[in-house]
Amino acid sequence: MVIQTHDLTARWRSLLLEQYSEDLHHVEVSWPDRQSLDISYRDIENFDPEFAERIITEPDANESAANEAAQALMRESGASNIIPFIRITDLPPDSGRKIRQLRADDIGHLIALDAIVTKISGVRPRIYQAAFTCSSCGNIIHQPQPNEQELIEPIECGELQSGCGRKNRRDTRFTLVTDRSVMINSQFIELQELPEHLRGGVQPERILCIAEHDLAGNLNPGDRVVVNGVLFVRSQRKGGKDTPIFDIFLRMHSIERQNIPLEEVNVSEEEIHEIKELAAREDLYELMSGSIAPSIFGYDRVKETMILQLFGGVARKNTDGTRSRGDIHILLMGDPGVAKSQLLSYMADISPRGRFASGMSASAAGLTAAAVQDSTADGRWTLEAGALALADLGVAAVDEFDKMNETDRSSMHEAMEQQRISISKAGINATLRTRCAILAAANPKTGRFQALSEMPFTSQINLTPPLISRFDVVWLMTDQTNPERDTSIANHIISSRFEGVSELMIEQGSSPDPTRTADAAGVTLTQEGKETVARDLIRKFVAYAKRSIHPTLNEEARDAIVKFYVETRKQGGESPDSVAITARSLEALTRLAEASARLRLSEVADISDAERAIRLTRTWRYELMGENFDWTTVNSGQKPKARNAERMVMDIIRRIKLETREDVELDVLLEETARADIPSDKVMDILEKLNREGEIYRPRHDRVSPN
Ligand code: ADP
Ligand code: MG
Repeated sequence: MVIQTHDLTARWRSLLLEQYSEDLHHVEVSWPDRQSLDISYRDIENFDPEFAERIITEPDANESAANEAAQALMRESGASNIIPFIRITDLPPDSGRKIRQLRADDIGHLIALDAIVTKISGVRPRIYQAAFTCSSCGNIIHQPQPNEQELIEPIECGELQSGCGRKNRRDTRFTLVTDRSVMINSQFIELQELPEHLRGGVQPERILCIAEHDLAGNLNPGDRVVVNGVLFVRSQRKGGKDTPIFDIFLRMHSIERQNIPLEEVNVSEEEIHEIKELAAREDLYELMSGSIAPSIFGYDRVKETMILQLFGGVARKNTDGTRSRGDIHILLMGDPGVAKSQLLSYMADISPRGRFASGMSASAAGLTAAAVQDSTADGRWTLEAGALALADLGVAAVDEFDKMNETDRSSMHEAMEQQRISISKAGINATLRTRCAILAAANPKTGRFQALSEMPFTSQINLTPPLISRFDVVWLMTDQTNPERDTSIANHIISSRFEGVSELMIEQGSSPDPTRTADAAGVTLTQEGKETVARDLIRKFVAYAKRSIHPTLNEEARDAIVKFYVETRKQGGESPDSVAITARSLEALTRLAEASARLRLSEVADISDAERAIRLTRTWRYELMGENFDWTTVNSGQKPKARNAERMVMDIIRRIKLETREDVELDVLLEETARADIPSDKVMDILEKLNREGEIYRPRHDRVSPN
């Protein structure tokens, strides 16, 4: 065994000398920024196929032999303080595994996992090479420490290391000398299988990994990576005792990042052809929006914005270093039972990297991220990614958005606009990327929207104005009775139930799965004779368009948007003190126009795209607030009439105070306000509010005074 290991080290030495001496030198000069040397498995295979094979089946022995050989070469060139790590990448395809496929046979072998990082712990040092002093002769003995489980003491004060040869525990004792030991960083990382490898609501499986040396502190939750590593087991402990059941872990050996966006969606030449044909169709936009949740009746405009959201605008880096997001955020504010959740889950399904989450989610990570103390990671603090980080580059459908927790609420602005979340807690500092489009749904606080209330619709949900203003599109979906529409919806629901196939019959195999057959074909007909695009094709269409098309607005399109903006601003809001549109809307319009161009695979967003963006923007604004859309109303949470009453009361108080130079008597005030047609109970409400806001104070119960 010893000879074999020596043999391996010699093999590695000759491989490194023959093919990697230049790279090793590079590590030497760029130390400690670069601490490891990546070697492609394919190169080793070319060098010696049999040797390469053994790396897969005996990774531990090879890893230490490789590192030993590399360290020896460093020492020979005079760099004895450098401990380079050899990392093998590009494993052969048959080493690839899915987390749920891991079995006992894989233990101890080098395998490759395609996964997403869900959790990271803090980085801690661990001893890699321990230095011990012999209590008898005082000599220092170096002892490698293969893992973090237990500290291994030398068996004897080895004569090879010029020791006295006494045996540990029998003739002598050893004491650890930390400052002469070599420490490396170590970190726990949790991986989860890729959602797109799963079908039909299966919960993704997870595995805990140990990342060491320069691999520690390198990954963030939400990162998609190929992790190469060695599976190992530890017995589960119960009541301080080991049990015969084992947990599996992965010791990371190397990481390959996946840099190509949406790489996981394969689009064949044939499919590209199909997509191009689709994109050239006259009725492209109706066809595509009609393919979103065909079983949901109506909502044509809502679906049209959703299809634009799916394709998205272009994220841009500006010359001053700032970034403008390309993702389109949509908020559905609606009464219960208007099919919001249904639309959301459909969108999460057809979007590449789509995620469905609820604001009330049970997971600690919630929507953004959370630092939690984790028992599986030896009780260390870990940072867990929420739905937004995991939906990076896709659509995050967030139901019950108004019910999200306080942590999410506080980081949501950053997550939506800068599209990242910075976290610094319990020794973990990380920036997670949340480059996803958010499709959120919210219910009114009171159960149903009150159309006649003084409060605008946007204040009837539990979201603050700044948060609402982060959405590019806000749809109001009220459940109004309208016999004609009710009949259509009823017929539609009944007939789609009729079209659906019994789930049990599908499971028994006596009926085909309609989603399978619909996915097989590109464009299919529903029973009502409407064409729809299969979900699989939509996914591929989106991935292809996002990867290859990056439209910009032409002059005509830009002019149209600017003109709409200027005109809307000129119109003003409902009252003289309000603005109808803010600069933020300009960006929203641009994004919508870009997405519209992307849908027809055009690099130029032209006037037709700008007009689509403007028309949709007009529609949602009109449905939300009627003719006089007004951001001031959204921001103040009050309709203009209410704002005016408040201002009049305040004016009257100030005037009387000026005239009398005394605190204003309540009776006098009420007389004046009655003359201005403001009912007295309303005045009392306003006074209470002004008092709360610090505009006035009440020196006595029957007096008020401006502050
Ligand atoms: P919400 O999330 O808005 O409370 P849901 O998505 O749970 O509503 O929908 C409630 C039910 O009503 C669903 O079964 C949905 O299919 C049905 N429904 C509501 N509106 C429509 C519609 N326009 N077309 C088809 N089904 C609808
Ligand atoms: Mg719902």
